[in-house]
Amino acid sequence: MEFQLAKMVQEQVEKAVNCIAIPGHIHDILKCPMRMLKVSFPVRMDDGRVVCFTGFRCQYNNILGPTKGGVRYHPEVNEDEIIALAAWMTWKCALVDLPYGGAKGGVVCDPTSLSERELERLTRRFTTEIMPILGPHSDIPAPDVFTTSKTMAWMMDTFSMFKGYTEPAIVTGKPEVMGGSLGRKQATGRGVAIVTRELYKKLAKSLKGATVAIQGFGNVGGHAALFLAQMGAKIVAVSDSSCGFIDYNGLPVAELMECVEKHKCLSEYNKLNSCNRDEILYQNVDILIPAALENQIHKDNIEKIKASVISEGANGPTTPEADDVLEKRGTYVIPDILANAGGVIVSHLEWVQAPSGLYWEEEEINQRLEKRLVRTFDNVWKKSKEKKVSLRTAAYIISIEKIAEVYSYRGLFP
Ligand code: NAD
Repeated sequence: MEFQLAKMVQEQVEKAVNCIAIPGHIHDILKCPMRMLKVSFPVRMDDGRVVCFTGFRCQYNNILGPTKGGVRYHPEVNEDEIIALAAWMTWKCALVDLPYGGAKGGVVCDPTSLSERELERLTRRFTTEIMPILGPHSDIPAPDVFTTSKTMAWMMDTFSMFKGYTEPAIVTGKPEVMGGSLGRKQATGRGVAIVTRELYKKLAKSLKGATVAIQGFGNVGGHAALFLAQMGAKIVAVSDSSCGFIDYNGLPVAELMECVEKHKCLSEYNKLNSCNRDEILYQNVDILIPAALENQIHKDNIEKIKASVISEGANGPTTPEADDVLEKRGTYVIPDILANAGGVIVSHLEWVQAPSGLYWEEEEINQRLEKRLVRTFDNVWKKSKEKKVSLRTAAYIISIEKIAEVYSYRGLFP
């Protein structure tokens, strides 16, 4: 198979490596994933049939600590995507100074066509298959596209049943009642809003009345909309895979979120006329937030993108060719490894709380999240000015330099 997304991460890394001096062998180590497990496993369906599924878990690099990354259920999950997502997790954790390496997992399936019981059996069997490489000190999953806190509860229960004791630190993004951190569900969207606000501050602009379009009104996109609206921005266009809505007077974000919570898609909202979901990307707005999947802003649609700020809620939404055009155009792109890092920051807080069973108030969680993201944004901004590079390349430079420094201390085994 052609590894397009993994190649895309390499191109992003290459750009940063060209601006700094790191030993060649460190760059070589960082070109490939440390470990990639591909599994095939049977699941009994509700009607008695047995269906075989394919799943992956990639641990990209663990020089900074146990690997951390979500699990995705989607028909288009593939090895290339999982490697790229695990690599981005590696750079993200290094950037925001967490003691984690990067990982990602996924199962090729259409979760919308599976019943709750089928999803549970699939999750439990997938967890069993990847268990040899999971552990609270080796690899810790979390939710991602089409997986939720319930998925994490099944993973945690399956792991615990095998071990013979309850192990809450094996996953993050659990339901709050079983040790999930307060604020985790909102954290990624909150983070997107915080870094967008920080960019506006640096540009000496006000978010009040700034128009925002959001592609992907799921967990990340919905919460980003909510927090940006609270900061004074006007959410004028949103989409999910079912449809899009546009209203330059401002959309009713809370109502739309309620609709998605209840019906799982935007198309059930019937108080507004819907439009084609792709129209959302091309609106004449100040801020565009791609919060769905990879490869959404590319060479074939870049000329139609009008926003002057892009805040990447999704992982890998902009291809390197599109990125080059945006850089020349002077569009500010807050890169995914910074913009959507709020989730893993609060996941880390959840993981830290788990062994002690002592849980912080939501206010404390949100303050810690805010502080870390504001500090990181400032570092990235300064690095981009110092090296005269984009925010993305600046973010990679910080991550790569950190990882290279840790290699220089740890050395190579044996
Ligand atoms: P989600 O499943 O809650 O939401 C994804 C949304 O995207 C859904 O509304 C879906 O309908 C929509 N979508 C899919 N294809 C689309 C298309 N072509 N056009 C418009 N909408 C489309 O998932 P999520 O957790 O919000 O994750 C979204 C992105 O954010 C992913 O790239 C994920 O890797 C990234 N991310 C998530 C987290 C997290 O904490 N959940 C953290 C970091 C990064």
